[in-house]
Amino acid sequence: MAGNRRGNGSTMSLDRPTSAAQKPSVENEILLQLPRSEFNAAFAKMELCAFPSRTILLEPGTPIEHCYFLNKGVASIIHVMTDGRSVEVGLTGREGFVGIPALVDYETSPVRAVIQIDASGYKIGVRQFKTVLQSGPVLRKLLSQYSQDLAVQSIQIAACNRLHSVDQQLARWLLMSQDRVGEITFPLTQEFISHMLGTRRASVSVAAGILQKRGLITYTRGQVTVKDRQGLENASCECYREINKQLEMWKTPQFGNLNHPIQKMRAKQ
Ligand SMILES: [Zn+2]
Repeated sequence: MAGNRRGNGSTMSLDRPTSAAQKPSVENEILLQLPRSEFNAAFAKMELCAFPSRTILLEPGTPIEHCYFLNKGVASIIHVMTDGRSVEVGLTGREGFVGIPALVDYETSPVRAVIQIDASGYKIGVRQFKTVLQSGPVLRKLLSQYSQDLAVQSIQIAACNRLHSVDQQLARWLLMSQDRVGEITFPLTQEFISHMLGTRRASVSVAAGILQKRGLITYTRGQVTVKDRQGLENASCECYREINKQLEMWKTPQFGNLNHPIQKMRAKQ
């Protein structure tokens, strides 16, 4: 991670919208769900920025200065041990938000958030964020829900890191990254992957070799291409499916209702 800048990104040109019909360049799913008044209030305080790979958005133990709604790209949520070793405990992209502790007035982050794949998105100062939140009940609810989504990921990834093989973890991680990038080819270095998985680089090479030999991916010059998405899902451990299953249950109200016929049918199986 040497050379990382506590990056605030480089500012991009931005036209302020005044109506829902004018929502240029917004791909963040939380922002897109806001009612017009809340969207405009938040949007007036935000800056559109580019965040190159390795930009640090949050650093453990340091005050949170900005919060982020990514439009594109992927950020890793990383736990850093006292000896400097690190392991990824979550991924976030255009579905999410970076700066969860600020939601409940906590001033520092327990984790590092670092851009893994070149990103762009909206940056908002933490004071402005809190002001927007005070008159933004929908934003508050969506961010509270997202903090639970992220917790589900972290719980599953903690178990995955302990119980599943490196090639299964790598398959799970590639699937999660591809979901956020939305392309079949995306940049990833082995060094970065090993940081994320908390595994030695040699183990990652072996795992990537296994997936490549099976025709699931190609991996050259820091670019990975997913050749067989279904095959990669089959090669992954249960964790990818389990995370998505829980999120789908929460997002689909009838699934979360234990009295719903589908849930009753499942209970009988
Ligand atoms: Zn797993």
